Amino acid sequence: MIDAYIGLGSNLDQPQQQILQAMDELDCIPESWLVRTSSLYASAPMGPQDQPAYVNAVAAITTGLAPLDLLDELQAIEKRHGRVRERRWGPRTLDLDLLLYGDQIIREHRLTVPHPGMTRRAFVLKPLFEIAPRLQVPGLGTVEKLWTDCTDQQARRIQ
Ligand code: ATP
Ligand code: MG
Ligand code: MG
Repeated sequence: MIDAYIGLGSNLDQPQQQILQAMDELDCIPESWLVRTSSLYASAPMGPQDQPAYVNAVAAITTGLAPLDLLDELQAIEKRHGRVRERRWGPRTLDLDLLLYGDQIIREHRLTVPHPGMTRRAFVLKPLFEIAPRLQVPGLGTVEKLWTDCTDQQARRIQ
């Protein structure tokens, strides 16, 4: 079994509900269960600014699934939440990013782990630090160090 960390984000159709519901669904992924969830955080959108603020969180799961099978499950959950891909970094009902998969470094066509954006996003690092303060990001150092390098960004705890 492997500990994996998932970043959740939403800015459409009741974002808080989308995130809380998605956490329940993570617990229903085959061969997997939910171990820990962060608080919910509010953050400004990346990229296009003509869209609502985001709600973000991070969840830890334990899984027996291979990384690409886990990605399939995450994408199936996004789809059930009515995720439509339009503009890059455009508004969405639900985004589920696989941040970390144990201490593995993965570079596949469909999957890069650690997630390439996570090291410079306060809305990922702050909730991740909340649930795993001593965690190491393989090849990149501690979550704490990475987070303190981007404290210029706002991620406000809301719940
Ligand atoms: P970003 O990845 O910068 O946060 P995004 O989450 O909006 O942007 P998506 O549209 O959700 O991007 O995903 C685009 C593609 O990224 C997916 O089709 C997926 O195959 C690929 N991908 C690569 N690595 C990962 C990962 N670690 N977690 C989730 N998707 C990934
Ligand atoms: Mg994303
Ligand atoms: Mg994504």
